Amino acid sequence: MLSVILPAYNEEKMIRKASARIDEILTAERIDYEIVFVNDGSKDGTWEEITKAAAENPHVTGVCFSRNFGKESAMLAGLAEASGDCCAVMDCDLQHPPETLVEMYRLWEQGYEVIEGVKRTRGKESALHRASAGLFYKMLSKAVKIDMSRASDFKLLDRRAVDALLSLPERNVFFRALSSWIGFKTASVEFDVQERTEGESKWSTWSLIQYAVRNIVVFSTAALQFVTMAGIVVFIAAVILGIETLVRYFMGRAVEGFTTVILLILIIGSLVMISLGIIGYYIGKIYEEVKGRPRYLIARKIERRAAHTA
Ligand code: UDP
Ligand code: MG
Repeated sequence: MLSVILPAYNEEKMIRKASARIDEILTAERIDYEIVFVNDGSKDGTWEEITKAAAENPHVTGVCFSRNFGKESAMLAGLAEASGDCCAVMDCDLQHPPETLVEMYRLWEQGYEVIEGVKRTRGKESALHRASAGLFYKMLSKAVKIDMSRASDFKLLDRRAVDALLSLPERNVFFRALSSWIGFKTASVEFDVQERTEGESKWSTWSLIQYAVRNIVVFSTAALQFVTMAGIVVFIAAVILGIETLVRYFMGRAVEGFTTVILLILIIGSLVMISLGIIGYYIGKIYEEVKGRPRYLIARKIERRAAHTA
């Protein structure tokens, strides 16, 4: 059985559309499936819509978070709930085309264990959004050492890969990169990002920046190396400037004015602050991990019908 996991945050208009569309396509292809909606603390009628969809279609089930925990947690919750032999994760705004799901499923049948959806085109976005996403993926690919520029959260994982993912103990997860970190027999499928028909993207430029910083810190220590690199650069500059100052001093001409002093204080001061900030951010993440709080809390769940749990 294929489990399709759909994280949903304020998507009341999309729930029924998504489940109907996926049902239509998978039924036509004779693929046994279940749909697992994860309501990520929506403020609109998303949960009511999920309940209705589940009442209409026995393949549909869902869990409801006690508040908004973010898409990463929602995807993991869906994977933990799912009982399929393979699990697919996709957006419930149908920007990930369900037709591609079939393609992925066929690859899984051929023995692939991790099938990654790769963006052929990015769909309609504002120029600013596209630019910031571009910068984010460049930085991220460097930090993670995996090419992430076309990666998406649209994936199909074999049960073994799902169990491997779920067994990772960390609280702060970055699904997109972890799915390639776990290894396994991997294939990729290209897809065109579709246009959103209802509702709007949950990502502002600011939240994208936060997402970028978080994921770089969560997934790599590259930012800590920045502190060392900055230190080395400043040290080299210090040696050069130091020699120059001494030479001038012994030649009886001290470096003139406060300008140099002010500049030095400003540059070094800000470097120290930034470095402390980076280290602080890592410590913050370590603190979160050490507390060991659950990744999410489930407030409600749709009980599966007996006929379908078998
Ligand atoms: N989503 C979520 N929790 C959040 C934000 C988003 O579960 O806090 C879900 C959302 O419902 C959608 C998917 O993540 O199914 C992608 O969100 P969105 O379409 O806003 O992102 P974009 O496609 O613009 O990258
Ligand atoms: Mg979307």
